[in-house]
Amino acid sequence: MNSLCNICGEKVKFFFSKKKQPEIIYPIQKKFKKNFKKFHKSNLVVGKCNKCDYLQTINKLSNKKIIHMYKTEQSFSTSLIENPNLIGDIETDAYEYIKKFLIIKKLNNISVCEVGGFDGWLIKKLNKFFKNKLLIEPNLRGCNIAKKNKIDTITGFFDEKLANKKNGNFDLVITRHVIEHVPDLKNFVLNLSKIMKENGYLIVETPCLDKILELGKTRVFIHQHLHYFSKYALEKVFSGFKLVNKQVIDESVMIMIFKKEITFKKIKRDINFKNKLNYFKKNIEKKRQKLKRVIDHNKNDILIFGASSQINDLVTLFGLNKNKITCIIDSNNEKKNYFLPSVPNLKIKTFKEYNFKYNELVIIATASKKRVIKILDKSKHSGRRFLF
Ligand SMILES: [Zn+2]
Repeated sequence: MNSLCNICGEKVKFFFSKKKQPEIIYPIQKKFKKNFKKFHKSNLVVGKCNKCDYLQTINKLSNKKIIHMYKTEQSFSTSLIENPNLIGDIETDAYEYIKKFLIIKKLNNISVCEVGGFDGWLIKKLNKFFKNKLLIEPNLRGCNIAKKNKIDTITGFFDEKLANKKNGNFDLVITRHVIEHVPDLKNFVLNLSKIMKENGYLIVETPCLDKILELGKTRVFIHQHLHYFSKYALEKVFSGFKLVNKQVIDESVMIMIFKKEITFKKIKRDINFKNKLNYFKKNIEKKRQKLKRVIDHNKNDILIFGASSQINDLVTLFGLNKNKITCIIDSNNEKKNYFLPSVPNLKIKTFKEYNFKYNELVIIATASKKRVIKILDKSKHSGRRFLF
């Protein structure tokens, strides 16, 4: 493996791989099935840099595929402006945390730019703090929704040309779940810095590698993610800024707030990081064996509750034979019109539609496990439940 670390330039070592990964793993509406044919499966190989406590994708998708994805496939993304009932914990937590920060710092009547915010839901919700709002977003559908909601938009990728044009314009720049996708990390950071005013603030949100390893969140490893930052790695990437605040939200997501100000503070490293890497790999093996035991002892139908991307890991990483699954159950009625790229032939049914025998083995793949258990209890389900 001859890859070099995107942060420090040292050689990276092999860490972990996921075989035959669909290049899209999120549920897709059936009517877009044609679109999906362009994407095939390929192995995902992740390398580690021991100097940066950082993981990176070794075999990146071609730029053409990446661009196609953000412009087209992202059109399936849910607009939270249009569907406020689908706002999840992660959005609520991020909103509350950022709002609190703006209040504490007495930031009012400021100019904000969100880089890659799809429909601009967050800056719309925080509207009262801003005198002007700009959204930079490659997806046209997202931009159109934002425009309808009185947010200035630029439809396109956040590149050097754009950054030069908006040089020094903003008191606050927000970028949520973008940095883990950008091919050129150094340029991205430089461009963010360019559009900020001196002493302006930058809010970066991305999956937290420390937590992913601790909690065994294998689903985060997908072709679309090129970087996995530990807290230390993210601080290192933004070492030209002053870190003013950091927070983990929703179990495994971190938000860091930086100020454009020169600092000489040394970044603290987590001495347990190496153990976390080892623990993560052992954990995968343990889970695989446990699942095998449960499946081997089972004589009933197998249902998976929750049409989530987690199913992809069940079949590609944890060795569940997809031919053994009877169907997928989801409480969201909408999901009937979707399919999962990792198991495209499996039917997704609602709980009501499915003719329960009550003794099925139910693998609970959704994040909200307690809710599913309640539903099963109510329905008098008496079979085994496997929390995954
Ligand atoms: Zn490195």
